[in-house]
Amino acid sequence: MKEIADIIEGELRQGIPVEITEYSIDSRSIITPEHTLFFALKGNNHNGHDYIQTLYSDGIRAFVISEYRAEFDHLPEANFILVKDVLTALQQLAAFHRQQSRAEVIGITGSNGKTVVKEWLYQLLANDHAVYRSPRSYNSQVGVPLSLLGIDTKADIAIIEAGISQKGEMQRLQHMIRPDIGIFTHLGDAHDENFSSREEKLAEKARLFTTCRWVIGQAGNVMQFIRTQVPTTTSFFTWSEEIEADVQVQTVNIALDHREVKVTHGQQSFTLDIPFADIASFENCMNAVCVLLLKKYAPEIIVSRVAQLSAIAMRLEIKEGINNCTLVNDYYNSDPSSFQLALNILATQDTSKERVVILSDFMDSGKEADDLYPSIAETLRQANVSLFIGIGKHLSDHRHDFAPNSRFYEDTEHFLRQEERENFKDQVILIKGARVFQFEFIAGFLQKQSHGTILEVDLDAMVHNLNHFRSLTDAHIAVMVKAFSYGSGSREIASLLQYHRVDYLMVAFADEGIELRAAGITIPIAVMNPEREAFDNMVMFNLEPEIYALDILEDFNRSLAKHGIKRFPVHIKLNTGMNRSGFDERDLPRLLDFFRSERSVYIRSIFSHLAGSDETIHDKFTLGQIQLFERMTEHIQARFDYKIWRHILNSAGIERFPQYHFDMVRLGIGLHGISATNAPLQPVSSFKTYISSIREVPEGQSIGYGRKSFTTRPSRIAVITVGYADGLNRHLSNRVGHVFVKGKRVPIIGNICMDTCMIDVTDTDATIGDEVEIFGKHIPVTELAEQLGTIPYEILTGISHRVKRVYYKE
Ligand SMILES: *Cc1c(COP(=O)(O)O)cnc(C)c1O
Repeated sequence: MKEIADIIEGELRQGIPVEITEYSIDSRSIITPEHTLFFALKGNNHNGHDYIQTLYSDGIRAFVISEYRAEFDHLPEANFILVKDVLTALQQLAAFHRQQSRAEVIGITGSNGKTVVKEWLYQLLANDHAVYRSPRSYNSQVGVPLSLLGIDTKADIAIIEAGISQKGEMQRLQHMIRPDIGIFTHLGDAHDENFSSREEKLAEKARLFTTCRWVIGQAGNVMQFIRTQVPTTTSFFTWSEEIEADVQVQTVNIALDHREVKVTHGQQSFTLDIPFADIASFENCMNAVCVLLLKKYAPEIIVSRVAQLSAIAMRLEIKEGINNCTLVNDYYNSDPSSFQLALNILATQDTSKERVVILSDFMDSGKEADDLYPSIAETLRQANVSLFIGIGKHLSDHRHDFAPNSRFYEDTEHFLRQEERENFKDQVILIKGARVFQFEFIAGFLQKQSHGTILEVDLDAMVHNLNHFRSLTDAHIAVMVKAFSYGSGSREIASLLQYHRVDYLMVAFADEGIELRAAGITIPIAVMNPEREAFDNMVMFNLEPEIYALDILEDFNRSLAKHGIKRFPVHIKLNTGMNRSGFDERDLPRLLDFFRSERSVYIRSIFSHLAGSDETIHDKFTLGQIQLFERMTEHIQARFDYKIWRHILNSAGIERFPQYHFDMVRLGIGLHGISATNAPLQPVSSFKTYISSIREVPEGQSIGYGRKSFTTRPSRIAVITVGYADGLNRHLSNRVGHVFVKGKRVPIIGNICMDTCMIDVTDTDATIGDEVEIFGKHIPVTELAEQLGTIPYEILTGISHRVKRVYYKE
């Protein structure tokens, strides 16, 4: 700690001696607390200092802080390093660590392709080098230092991604990374809005290269410009298909799924067979190949390794498994740091289910097996994993390090032959293995079978939207998760929201709340329509009722008294103009009378609901509602000596009436990417299916039931496996609705059937098995709603439960 304090120029307050091997910024994902140094960052949404006491009780003894709080006096064993700025300290430590490392550092920047180039370079180099690479896409001001701190003493090459979105950021990254070799992947339009010109953005990115010996990239204007931004001593190594460059490339053949290119460099000339046809893969591959050429790899080796490049799954998938299991699939890379990340994600899943980990041997740990596997076993114990299944020779050899109930198999085939599906039930299962083990077969074995129509839920987009709303308000945030979280799923979404520390969840009915409690949700839950039959359960499961009438309040209070419970929180609903439910102003005297004597309930909040918060034509009415709300709530509050929270805004209200956030806001549709003000939200749900068959139909033929559509030319008509029973509205029949397939919008033709419908794919090269989007990133759900004369809420909540929800996260 002394040494670290010196490096980061902080003031040390010593506790017990600790040995630091891990660094963390996230209080929720710490695996070996006694060896972790926690950096208490202050972000827009969280302040790390708030979690120090909890972390201390979890066993963490080392903290970097920027404010010393009196309460820390009660943590006698803790070591604190007090610095001016915690992020700067993290970056200083990372810079120091990188300087100590003997690894040659390859720094990658550009708008797209960073992660692919990084992973491919890894695939190309790992046979001959101990290669370290940043986990996933850790490339930000926080991600880069954490990446660098992971470089171990064995590594001789470290590949680090650098991503920026604003001016001034690259300089800080450059100070830490100091790459020996730089790669510029591609200049796109991401983050243009933060720069006055493309040149300014490029100049910022080029800063990464100021200490490079070599810079690699595609020859052209971008490279020319980068040359003007770096010292003249920097060497460039470029490739091009069009202009003169160090490596001359010529595409000789593009087939469906691969591309052959002829490469000429000096005297050498050879043909690469890249196992991808698209242009982005070609560019990414050439940038990686340049590194091999610089390192004087022989052409035969380059050719054979490139032929084996494999696709990079950028996302980890969370899927519904058999027998009520949840699968976390992550089987594209295999190293201890990505294992750690996958375990963190496992920790965010339904906590009522048992945790199972299926893991293959690590192909590239950089650590000796005798050190590695005992530490993996320890990590599993800390993460409360109740069943471990190891696949591969190394794991089998180390079976004695693991818990006695663990099971081991030589390879995936033996697993599939000997395990039964019935062995897996009510569990969350992490499936994590190196590619050679082909764990996709295990995932297939454990995955719930479905008819191929899915609602894909992008959890990163959801978190982005949550953070957008957070940036608008200082108030507490309640998220409405009624109706299966607007169709996107209840347990998974509630777990995500709990992990991201929202303050309240609100459901429509008590049974929805009970389901969330059963899934391990512990944050407060309010129930909007409390039914009398559910009162006992609500008390038992700590579900707080919304009270909209006096008789309900009396009955609920009686129920509490029966259980001998005091101070149970309730939420009083006021009617200010919606005229649906709630106390009117004239009801207040009776309500207050009720509280004259000692009661078992206590009022946690008073709230009301706006009838037209999304439309300017109603603004006068809305302000009237708010004014009445203020008057009524002041009247109530005056009668209590404790503070009662107030809230009135839904999503549109949060965006449009920032002066009325009061103590809490209630976020609903905004979380799903729908904004009343065109705010930069991201679409969350995509409704997708696939083409199950295609038929050639001559001109003038009718299609489907009722003969409502006719072909007007020789046509290709595809069947997709989604119908009105899945939630595809039948009013979209007969060319009213469109779907997105193979980069184009095509019309629905004929009447929509119960389980299928037909689309006209004549103008596309669509084939059987192609994915079809009904709504999502290409066809906004708002557009569909407009077409049907309804609101997105109805479409989202109308997707049938038989449609499997699939969750994605980068
Ligand atoms: C559903 C609901 C909300 C959220 O509304 P959105 O328009 O989806 O943001 C807020 N408050 C109450 C009482 C609700 O029922």
